[in-house]
Amino acid sequence: MNQLVLASGNAGKLRELSALLKDFGYELHPQSAFQVPEAKETGTTFVENAIIKARNAAEHTGLAALADDSGIEVDALQGAPGVYSARFAGVDANDQANNALLVKKLTTVPAELRTARYRAVIVLLRHSADPSPVICEGSWEGMIQLEPSGEGGFGYDPLFFLPTLNCTSAELSAEEKNRLSHRGQALQQLKERLSRGIK
Ligand code: IMP
Repeated sequence: MNQLVLASGNAGKLRELSALLKDFGYELHPQSAFQVPEAKETGTTFVENAIIKARNAAEHTGLAALADDSGIEVDALQGAPGVYSARFAGVDANDQANNALLVKKLTTVPAELRTARYRAVIVLLRHSADPSPVICEGSWEGMIQLEPSGEGGFGYDPLFFLPTLNCTSAELSAEEKNRLSHRGQALQQLKERLSRGIK
């Protein structure tokens, strides 16, 4: 079986990606199993940050590496918080603080101008000097509402309103969110790339 390292310590991501990759003959290991130090996410794009993380894991393990990066872009804020989504209200900010700051910045923006999208990127590097990373991307359109609704999901989900479904992404079941989401789309692309064979 081909060995791959995941540039993340997130147990949920490891479980989800391991299951998918197993079907294609890949065994996925968390980077913590190799004491890989955290990479500094210094990029200004999701692709750059995913590549930085994957390259760091490949360099420290000598294995092919997989990394993901995601966030939310709000048009009225010129794409912010973008790559800073997790640290919008500060380096140690939690979801509640990030959401409160987003609402504050949008209070005077009319509802119809509060367009936004989630984006997700998954990158596969065959080795640390791979000049052509496999890049899989997904995006999911929505609007930002100023009152939270729903208990599911995480992060900005209680504010991310889906006009076609008339609910927020926090009101969807986990299965429904995975089927529609930016991350679900990027995973689907990875699956298609793997089934064609990574050359
Ligand atoms: P990361 O890709 O795990 O670093 O996550 C980036 C940040 O983007 C998260 O901490 C959330 O703030 C936000 N984010 C990414 N995907 C989602 C989602 O599906 N729902 C809500 N927030 C998300």
